[in-house]
Amino acid sequence: MISGFSGTGKGTLVKRLLQEYDNYSLSVSRTTRSPREGEIDGVDYIFSTDEEFRRLIDENGFIEYAGYVGNYYGTPRAFVERQLAAGKDVLLEIEMQGALKIKEQYPDAFLIFVLPPSFRELKERLTSRGTESAEVIEKRMARARDEIKYIEYYDCLLVNDELEQCVKKLHEKIQTYGR
Ligand code: ADP
Ligand code: 5GP
Repeated sequence: MISGFSGTGKGTLVKRLLQEYDNYSLSVSRTTRSPREGEIDGVDYIFSTDEEFRRLIDENGFIEYAGYVGNYYGTPRAFVERQLAAGKDVLLEIEMQGALKIKEQYPDAFLIFVLPPSFRELKERLTSRGTESAEVIEKRMARARDEIKYIEYYDCLLVNDELEQCVKKLHEKIQTYGR
């Protein structure tokens, strides 16, 4: 499970793992957030209304779900269970509350927290990605300052400084965990 502040590079890292190595399977989350330019429904997220999201909560359709800066995000249960049964290394790119809920249900899950080299660089990455307004960036930075208190619960901390090295290291850490 991969968490980290918004803009750290989680999405970038996960894409690279899927491209470069076999046996990974990515869980596509459901969200009530609007799609960003270029995001595809069913690939980046399953985009959903509040109503649909609430119905799935009632039907026990999520392994976990959480609120994040004004929207809901959840991990669909059926897909993850199928992939685990097929022996895949399932990647979940989710925020901290959700990650900790999953660790309770799946104690063998490996929790990785990806850190930026500095908060200055984090703001730089969020700004240069150009997908959020200044106001939302500030909210995401505030959330990062809050989340840092909980990184002690993670199995592994990884700094995403140089991308290529970080991809390799991430793969190594996942493959050697518990072996
Ligand atoms: P997250 O999924 O954690 O919110 P993204 O993967 O969208 O973050 O990355 C945020 C921005 O930072 C993107 O514009 C991405 O291209 C850039 N980025 C990711 N990793 C690195 C890195 N190692 N060095 C410099 N920029 C990076
Ligand atoms: P974004 O809006 O930048 O795509 O995602 C915002 C935050 O929600 C990120 O920290 C991301 O990891 C997290 N997130 C994405 N999907 C899920 C999910 O299914 N569950 C939880 N708890 N968090 C998620």
